Amino acid sequence: MKTRPSFECWRCERTFGQVVDLEGKPVLLLECPYCGAECKVDMAPYRRRVITVTRDEEAGPSTVGYALPETVKTFKPGDEESEQEA
Ligand SMILES: [Zn+2]
Repeated sequence: MKTRPSFECWRCERTFGQVVDLEGKPVLLLECPYCGAECKVDMAPYRRRVITVTRDEEAGPSTVGYALPETVKTFKPGDEESEQEA
């Protein structure tokens, strides 16, 4: 699943759009085009599982979609344990 959300750099706080493939990989590593910082993005909080329920005996396929905010916050790689707000 490819999408092109806007990301906010954790370092320079500028936003940039980038095409990302969310298939099976909720954690992404991007590079800020402005300051070159490595930006870690965890897409898991935005993931939504859509389950198709039918009355038939076979279960419908479940699909995973993403409900992304207008701007996705990024984090410094390796710093995900702390919840510091700049
Ligand atoms: Zn930046």
